[in-house]
Amino acid sequence: MTDTSADLVILGGGSGGYAAAFRAAELGLSVILIEKDKLGGTCLHRGCIPTKALLHAAEVADVARDGEQFGVKTTLEGIDIAGVNKYKEGIIARLYKGLQGLAKSHKVNLVEGTGTFVAPNAVDVDGRRYTGKNVILATGSYAKSLPGLELGGRIITSDDALSLDYIPEKVVVLGGGVIGVEFASVWASFGVDVTIVEALPRLVPNEDEFASKQLERAFRRRKIAFKTGVKFTGARQDENGVAVSLETGETLEADLLLVAVGRGPNTAGHGYEEAGVGMDRGFVLTDDRLRTNLPNVYAVGDIVPGLQLAHRGFQQGIFVAEEIAGLAPRGIDESGIPRVTYSHPEVASVGLTEAAAKDRYGQGVTTFTYDLGGNGKSQILKTSGAIKLVKAPDGPVVGLHLVGDRVGELIGEAQLIYNWEAFPEDVAPLIHAHPTQTEALGEAHLALAGKPLHVHS
Ligand SMILES: Cc1cc2nc3c(=O)[nH]c(=O)nc-3n(C[C@H](O)[C@H](O)[C@H](O)COP(=O)(O)OP(=O)(O)OC[C@H]3O[C@@H](n4cnc5c(N)ncnc54)[C@H](O)[C@@H]3O)c2cc1C
Repeated sequence: MTDTSADLVILGGGSGGYAAAFRAAELGLSVILIEKDKLGGTCLHRGCIPTKALLHAAEVADVARDGEQFGVKTTLEGIDIAGVNKYKEGIIARLYKGLQGLAKSHKVNLVEGTGTFVAPNAVDVDGRRYTGKNVILATGSYAKSLPGLELGGRIITSDDALSLDYIPEKVVVLGGGVIGVEFASVWASFGVDVTIVEALPRLVPNEDEFASKQLERAFRRRKIAFKTGVKFTGARQDENGVAVSLETGETLEADLLLVAVGRGPNTAGHGYEEAGVGMDRGFVLTDDRLRTNLPNVYAVGDIVPGLQLAHRGFQQGIFVAEEIAGLAPRGIDESGIPRVTYSHPEVASVGLTEAAAKDRYGQGVTTFTYDLGGNGKSQILKTSGAIKLVKAPDGPVVGLHLVGDRVGELIGEAQLIYNWEAFPEDVAPLIHAHPTQTEALGEAHLALAGKPLHVHS
């Protein structure tokens, strides 16, 4: 039987919770991890992994459809959605099995059930009390809707979109952020007629304006329709379809409406409020050591205000485990967390946008944009796009923004440049293999350091 007391009790076994559990166990702490559904949480079962599997299937479809531009005679016969789902589920199943094995090998006591936080050192599950010298809250997030917009039937969230067993003909996507853009990209590759509606003036509105412009240009070429700066006013559905009305008076007819307007913190009904956890609009407030207002109670992941990303959850989980173990880890710089939208083309960034850099450093901020037209590998792949660097006055590179197919893979180097506070002169002499897309990063730094190579002035 599982022990009911430990050094650490964690509520929620998603990215944040399980990372904290594994790191704490590595550091010799006893750990109880409480999970009501499946270890791995949103990212593994309903988020990062399934969406990226769909995006890869979409890429394969595009390659098959467009083989001729590479001199290869291919045609796309169609999408076997059952086959796509089987491929996606296979990946999840393998990773899930691996994760369960890791929990076992770390000797994490996994408790299956719904936990209620009842006191700063205690969580109840099915009438049994689990106590910890420390507690981490990690209950994640859920897909939000808008006031007056009832989910169900043809009005779906990303959870439903991932389990569709057919390909719709026409979809309206409400929300032009990461999740909306990724699904729009998948469906367009599968031959669906897609329209994105975004209330803010541009797609991926949290990114640098440059990235939005590049993505919008690419989506126009792909015939993905989008309406930005337009508010949605209502939706009606019947057995034939869904009608989405906009403030412009226009009505869009579709088979499905995907609601992708952000994710809310999953903090209601778990005892947080009753136990006195400090919260704001449902998010759990923490200091920069991820401590809540209650003694020895921490919070990690999507319930903490900030970027809702799996790797942020991992890092926060590791951080808190090390903090509890007395290692005094270095604090996390939220701007140093890489962000990737895995659409076709991809959008990747780390650090500050030009606008944020100007707010922080003034008008002396400089930028350089390198067009992927000058990058051999990008030409081979037939992808367009660009890389934009943002540099502080007399200082390091403080923002890197990339758009183009596969540029998500370049974010590893980009985040090192940002997080190590590199100057263009530090990066310029480093050698990038030819022909790779990483050269575009190298070229942009060469240019900012005053010695451009493959740059047309
Ligand atoms: C469609 C989609 C695509 C995404 N793609 C990416 C991506 O490509 N890259 C990326 O970095 N991020 C992505 N994300 C975001 C990522 O999934 C989240 O940031 C991450 O899962 C947050 O981790 P978490 O630990 O905070 O919460 P979760 O992963 O949501 O885990 C919380 C866990 O707590 C459990 N739980 C909740 N309440 C209780 C309770 N009372 N008792 C017991 N257990 C409980 C839940 O069952 C869940 O397993 C995506 C999200 C979505 C929805």
